[in-house]
Amino acid sequence: MLIGAHVSTAGGASKAIARAEEIGAECMQIFASSPRAWKVPPIAEAEIEKFKAESQRAGMGPTVVHGKYLCAIGSPDPELVEKSVGSLTAELRSAEQLGALGVIFHPASHRGQGFEAALPQFTEAMKRVLDDAPGDALLMLETSAGSGDHIGSKFTELAQIIKSVDSPRVAVCMDTQHMWAAGFNIADAEELKSTLEQFDSEIGLDLLRSVHANDSKRELGSAVDRHDNIGEGLIGIDGFRNIMGNEAFADVPFYLEVPGFEKGGPDAPNVEIMKNLRAELANS
Ligand SMILES: [Zn+2]
Ligand SMILES: [Zn+2]
Repeated sequence: MLIGAHVSTAGGASKAIARAEEIGAECMQIFASSPRAWKVPPIAEAEIEKFKAESQRAGMGPTVVHGKYLCAIGSPDPELVEKSVGSLTAELRSAEQLGALGVIFHPASHRGQGFEAALPQFTEAMKRVLDDAPGDALLMLETSAGSGDHIGSKFTELAQIIKSVDSPRVAVCMDTQHMWAAGFNIADAEELKSTLEQFDSEIGLDLLRSVHANDSKRELGSAVDRHDNIGEGLIGIDGFRNIMGNEAFADVPFYLEVPGFEKGGPDAPNVEIMKNLRAELANS
């Protein structure tokens, strides 16, 4: 189990590697471009080479790219869907060029039209993205906190999407805070076990390819997406000890998306807490 973190690419994608190294991360998540603007400028060839050389030097990886928060392929607004498909395609191409594991994206909201109604367009959009960004990079659906009309807080929804897209390049990123908010008490050994059994029977544990490791500011089942530092939130240290000790996660990279103890984002203390838990579990 590798411990990674989301880091900034300010100054170029290759600059992210030293930032990840500085906080002790073994793998990292980045944005391909500003998460709050639609544009995804292509990455220059020289920057791609630098990124690969730096990753190799630092032994950093697997890298994952986080899609834009604006992305909403389940929306009833065709213009929004087109923009989303465009940015997701560009991000998946960038991920492929950087040699990243893939792109993690939010299934986002169906905006009142209902999941069943959104499913065909959602499937179609994902197929277009995969066709227009050929390669090996995965398109990973992130589990959602389940607020409002958001898709993906139930395994059955993710399973239906995966089944209809029917591509070996589709996988899942489990966000621990979103799971907690969606009502899965993953801090509890028995409930984690049954949650993973349910995941395995509906989706398949082989499709669990990344984890976002975040504690939760809000209570179990709140449906609110509010990340906290590891051990400062309601999942707590014992909760993370329980999660990290489960063999389903043994070969899955963890990426921190926490606020940071100094509010500067994922930091060395959060990475260290995770590494200490891993060491403790390895020795027990
Ligand atoms: Zn996310
Ligand atoms: Zn996340």
